Formats: sequence, C-alpha cells, structure tokens
Amino acid sequence: RTVYVNGEYLPETEAKVSIFDRAFLMADGVYEVTSVLGGKLIDFDGHAKRLARSLKELDMKAPCTEDELLAIHRELVARNEITDGLVYLQVTRGSAGDRDFAFPDPETTEPTLVLFTQNKPGLADSPAAKTGIKVISLEDIRWGRRDIKTVQLLYPSMAKMAAKKAGCDDAWFVEDGKVTEGSSNNAYIVKGGKIITRELSHDILHGITRAAVLRFAKEAQMVVEERSFTIEEAQQADEAFVTSASSFVMPVVELDGAQIGTGTPGPVAARLREIYLEESLKLAV
Ligand code: PMP
Repeated sequence: RTVYVNGEYLPETEAKVSIFDRAFLMADGVYEVTSVLGGKLIDFDGHAKRLARSLKELDMKAPCTEDELLAIHRELVARNEITDGLVYLQVTRGSAGDRDFAFPDPETTEPTLVLFTQNKPGLADSPAAKTGIKVISLEDIRWGRRDIKTVQLLYPSMAKMAAKKAGCDDAWFVEDGKVTEGSSNNAYIVKGGKIITRELSHDILHGITRAAVLRFAKEAQMVVEERSFTIEEAQQADEAFVTSASSFVMPVVELDGAQIGTGTPGPVAARLREIYLEESLKLAV
C-alpha cells in the first residue's frame, strides 16, 4: 500500500514520523475519514471544512490548502486502486524534538500530515445494514470538546471492547441521563415518523453524514427534531439508527438487551440509507 507522509508518497513500510510527534506523545492531532464509493470521495467538502474547523479550534496550522488535500486523496485512491474503501487523514501539531506540554512555536514547527487508504470492497452493501446492529449504553466520560475531531480515541476503543464483550456491536454514550452519540457515530431514534437526534453543541461530533442525512430527510419532507433523548425513550422508539462516514446509515435493533421496534431494520432507516447513498454518490468527487 502506498501512503502519504509530509509531501511524499511512500510504501507503508518506509513511512516515518518522529517519536517526538505530539500526536504520539499527547494525542495532539486531529483526523478525518472519508469514504470512497465507485472510486469517488463521498462528502469530501464537508470533511475538509470540518478539518479546518478542528485545526482552528486547537490553534493548529493547516498543512496545505483544501485543493491540495483533494489532490492527495485522489492520488492515493488512484495509486492504491481503491474502488470502495476509506481515506484516513491525520494532521498533528508536529514535533519540537522534545517532550513539553506547551505548544511548540508554530513559526518553526511544521504540522505532520499523514494519509492512508483502507480497501473495503462492497462497503455500501454491508451485511450489518440488513440485520441491524446491537448496542449497549455506557457513561460518556470523554472530554468536553467532542466537536473537535481529535485522535484521543482510547475511551471509544474501550467502549467498542465493552460492546464486544457483551455480545454487541457498538456503544451509545450517555451523559446526564441523555444519549450524546455513538462511540464513532451519531445516534438517532424514530418515533411516529419523526427523526430525533441530539442538537449540535460541544457535546458531540458534528457528523458530516449527520448533516447530509438531515438535509436529505428534510428535502424528502420527513420531520426532523433536534433534541436529546434518554435510553428509555430509545428503547420504546419505533426505530433507531446511527450515521457515520464509514457506515452511512446503520439500523440499530437492540439497545441494552431491549429490542427496538420489530427488532429488524425499520423503514425510515432503510429509506434514509438509500437516499443518502444515492444522493451523496451524485455529489461525490
Ligand atoms: N461521532 C463520533 C464520536 C465519531 O467518531 C464519528 C465518526 N468519525 C461520528 C460521530 C460521525 O461523523 P461522520 O459522519 O463525519 O463520520
């Protein structure tokens, strides 16, 4: 596999980053994951814009322009012959050649830019979308700026492991009795035809798929309500689902052991998945 590191396309075994890189020592980095369908990038513009926002919120320098980022994405997709898959991008504050809590001088420190692809044949035809996934709930003990897409992913990793141990697929986080989001996705319920998902704030990641799905839902005259909800409300909902760049729209059929609706993917989630895949492919670059 060919990867990209700081201006160079290299075999993955030859790619190197300093051990003093602040992402390695302090999780001082941000990332994006963009899906590739039919060789094209889905929602690239949204991911590039959110990356710019994450960088700004952390006082980090942008490594290059959005046009250059798009060119790098396309070059890697081409070199690795990706039809369906993902492009992972990470920007870190770079390395000052030592360990120090204080940020290094941005005048003399270059950010680190790394990209690699993951080949996922049939990404849009995932079997899980046909059966739905099972989730558990866990207390949300992450930091208070979840709107910034940082590489601090230890707790989400622990949450996935806890889900796996419980015979489930994923976890929904709960704070002050209300669902924030999934471990790596935004969470929704459907009740009486209404699509309900938590409003945007510092408490959740502003999902690029969330924005697109809500836009398509409104265009299709579906009712959207942006508010938080409890686990109990979700368990009594007609349907539940999650959205993310890598899973698109994924039905949730069980929550903390309770079946949601009929225990099979519901019509709203199925329709939103269909609309999202169709419409976002039309806009793909
Ligand atoms: N919330 C969290 C915590 C995530 O990690 C992700 C996936 N990166 C999402 C939501 C979904 O965001 P997106 O639709 O932009 O992939």
